[in-house]
Amino acid sequence: MRRLIPLIALALTAFSVSAADEVVVYSARKDHLIKPLFDAFTAETGIPVRFITDKEGPLLERLKAEGSNTPADMLVTVDAGNLWQAAETGVLAPVKSEVLERNIPASLRDPGGQWFGLSVRARTLVYNSERVRAGDLSTYEGLAAPSWKGRVCLRTSKKVYNQSLVAAMIARLGEPEAERVVHGWVENLATEPFADDTKVLEALAAGVCDVGIVNTYYYGRYMQEHPGARLGIFWPNQQTSGVHVNVSGAGVTRHAKHPQAALRLLEWLSAPQAQAIFASLNLEYPANPAVASDPQVAAWGAFKPDPTNVSEEGRLQARAVMLMDRAGYR
Ligand code: FE
Repeated sequence: MRRLIPLIALALTAFSVSAADEVVVYSARKDHLIKPLFDAFTAETGIPVRFITDKEGPLLERLKAEGSNTPADMLVTVDAGNLWQAAETGVLAPVKSEVLERNIPASLRDPGGQWFGLSVRARTLVYNSERVRAGDLSTYEGLAAPSWKGRVCLRTSKKVYNQSLVAAMIARLGEPEAERVVHGWVENLATEPFADDTKVLEALAAGVCDVGIVNTYYYGRYMQEHPGARLGIFWPNQQTSGVHVNVSGAGVTRHAKHPQAALRLLEWLSAPQAQAIFASLNLEYPANPAVASDPQVAAWGAFKPDPTNVSEEGRLQARAVMLMDRAGYR
């Protein structure tokens, strides 16, 4: 028996070495946005990547339910609110990596190292350029002014993007002022909030409303499909807090079976070659500031982003949800 133990230990080591050559990913980012990257990673490193895709909520529930039995080594998801939630529920592991700290700015990653932003989206103003001049616009707060009565379109407050936007307003304005602003938006709505950002853009183009708040890549997609659309993009809060930004990102799971390979994939995704692909596949901005944006995205012009750490959007999310409810934002 004594002689058997080293043999078993040896066999286990051999197994873990060969099984280390794989990463299992749970991804809320759609197939076509991640598969080209995983294929390139495998071609370069020889490490296969297996992945499943699903919506953010169900993926997190699945990770929690599977606990230490999970096959997942990495979670890829969108919105700092969701990444923060994943870290809070304990499904991610903190990692320390000089590569990631060098490639990803501090404001775009968890201060505790549990997740890292990999692409940046700005949630900004889009306007009907036949009815509004860019000079009429200034800030998110400005859309609460009486001059915008009946002219504003918004997506539903149920979407995490808006919860993060309002959370960021709480962080910089305080709760009473943020509530006053959100109430003003609601007072100025042209119509009921929409189910998604594309519907907001359609309503703007159709003249149902004059100004709305959407993520940049939806604007990019819409303009690709409707090149003649009379829609302008505007960067608000340039004299003050900066444009609201959010991330898609990833973290290594707490119960990863291949943590080394997962970390290697995460570091690889933060490096320039992958960053250019990761961002441009969805018309987003690279999180790594050394990488240039896709030409279509760059054509919208440079802007000053809100420098607050995106994890604040998660921390204040519950308060944002309650605030929007009080303000009558459905
Ligand atoms: Fe989206």
